[in-house]
Amino acid sequence: MPGDSVNINNKATAQNTYDAIVIGSGISGGWAAKELCEHGLKTLVLERGRNVVHLKDYPTATMNPWDFPHRGEMPRSFVEANPLITEAAGFGEDTAHFFIKDNDHPYVQEKPFEWIRGYQVGGKSLIWGRACPRWSHFEFTAPARYGYGIEWPISYDDIAPWYSHVELFAGICGNRDGLEAMPDGEYMPPFDFNCVEKQLQQKIKKSYKDRFMIQGRWAQLTQPTALHVQQGRGKCQARDLCMRGCPFGGYFSSVSSTLPWAQKTGNLTIRPFSVVHSIIYDEKKAKAVGVRIIDTNTKQSIDYFSKIIFVNASALNSNLVLLHSISNRFPNGLGNDNGLLGKYVCFQNYRGSVNGDVDGFEDSYYYGRRTAECMMANFRNLHKHDMDFVGGYMAFMGAWRERGAGSQSPEQIGASYKDAMSEAGGWHMYMYMQGETVPKETNYVSLSKDKTDQWGMPLLVTNVGYDDNDEKLLKDFLTQSSEMFDNIGIKNINQYDNHWAPGRDIHEMGGCRMGKDPKTSLLNKWNQMHNCPNVFVTDGACMTSTANQSPSIFYMALTARAANHAVEELKKGNL
Ligand SMILES: Cc1cc2nc3c(=O)[nH]c(=O)nc-3n(C[C@H](O)[C@H](O)[C@H](O)COP(=O)(O)OP(=O)(O)OC[C@H]3O[C@@H](n4cnc5c(N)ncnc54)[C@H](O)[C@@H]3O)c2cc1C
Repeated sequence: MPGDSVNINNKATAQNTYDAIVIGSGISGGWAAKELCEHGLKTLVLERGRNVVHLKDYPTATMNPWDFPHRGEMPRSFVEANPLITEAAGFGEDTAHFFIKDNDHPYVQEKPFEWIRGYQVGGKSLIWGRACPRWSHFEFTAPARYGYGIEWPISYDDIAPWYSHVELFAGICGNRDGLEAMPDGEYMPPFDFNCVEKQLQQKIKKSYKDRFMIQGRWAQLTQPTALHVQQGRGKCQARDLCMRGCPFGGYFSSVSSTLPWAQKTGNLTIRPFSVVHSIIYDEKKAKAVGVRIIDTNTKQSIDYFSKIIFVNASALNSNLVLLHSISNRFPNGLGNDNGLLGKYVCFQNYRGSVNGDVDGFEDSYYYGRRTAECMMANFRNLHKHDMDFVGGYMAFMGAWRERGAGSQSPEQIGASYKDAMSEAGGWHMYMYMQGETVPKETNYVSLSKDKTDQWGMPLLVTNVGYDDNDEKLLKDFLTQSSEMFDNIGIKNINQYDNHWAPGRDIHEMGGCRMGKDPKTSLLNKWNQMHNCPNVFVTDGACMTSTANQSPSIFYMALTARAANHAVEELKKGNL
């Protein structure tokens, strides 16, 4: 039971003791492991899912479309049994093995919330979209400046060197565009615009002073450096099959990059099949001393011990673990003196998109694939709060050419299908939003009092929804993007609100936020719990606000920064 006084089995203690424990092996956990191992700390990574080894465990990576029994779709019986996960971006017959199954991992939605998960070594780093724009100084200051959140305890200048650190290692492609709202990083060459994008970019530039369509920043190796070659990774082949696991290591995942790097130090132990039950708090020492797990195969409970603990189970699972880590000192969850653990959960708003037809360019085509889209940096509420909503949105966009109307129909077979395949159709342009949402106390997660999973862990209860600000932001995106398309000559413009529930964006954040004041936050500026400083939370749970940019490269930078701080503090004897 969590909350029991620590009952240490001394025989097992020595062999179960490490310098550091990392909970979760995904994007952020991989970074914690890499940094800690490189600094010589014997590090145990606890992962609830199975092991995944680079190359060996990518069963579909080199399969052709005709090798799949259902042409890439899952059978109807599977879709009916898994209505939630089969809706996730990138889910298909070729990637299903890197996503959970709905019934294996239930949770309670008090308001509709689609919790997309990938439980294996590597977590969602195997299946992420790889967009890596930086935050700008606007996002660090906007919540406090415009009164919709607490002040961030760090600034852009604090994190900029750590962005560089992780970008150089992970390998991010992109252009140096000099935009204030989306600062440049350490980029290798971007993917090319196609002919239509090239022209539309210029038209947008001419029509708008504050809107910039740029080549996207993506975690794809367009020009690997010696550091990537040392990782055993090679150039992205633009196969656009990333989510199956890349045999070239062309995109960043913890399985291809950070974990093998940590392994080479000889300091890493990964324990898969280990659901973390709770963090063990020792009242006498007034610190966390270890982690209790449940072995998913044997259902046995085992304790591991360490000087420091990194919590990287992904935003909502980290909340779950912390809320479940109760003791006499912390009856409401680890470090939770202010009662705010689990609250101020937020996400990114992906509801709006527009598309339309582009005239001309019939004599132009492009060959091969591209794993990247273009981006547009946020242009709302930057220097001043001038909208009827707070926060901003960035957008993803691109132009593409049809292969002939008939080729889109799955019913087509035979000669007419072949003819359609060889005919090039018209050009089209699309754009979709990624909007900031406001962290609110009323958007929260908690633990079910009566429902448990197959390992006896309480189910997570989600109580997270949209508000009026989200609706206004969505409306503005739809109006502005349609007008912009119209201004640059795009025809037959359509607008969509997909009405997705929160969560489908897969950018859930918060619940254990960073801040300056222990009364209003759980973590300090180094991601240490104010009330339990040898515990670091560096995944999305730590987020004070969401910003509009894709968050994972920020989690990586925060994790690397916190891990290096932890090492310094250990050396000084402060932890
Ligand atoms: C289809 C898709 C597209 C995406 N596109 C982008 C994008 O373009 N850009 C971007 O920035 N982000 C993107 N994301 C989001 C990105 O994947 C996440 O932000 C990122 O993976 C979060 O990193 P993490 O370390 O917090 O969690 P994860 O990578 O999910 O890793 C968490 C790990 O912890 C393990 N775990 C959970 N609970 C426990 C427990 N109790 N005990 C032990 N282990 C546990 C999990 O099994 C998992 O391996 C995308 C996600 C998906 C699925």
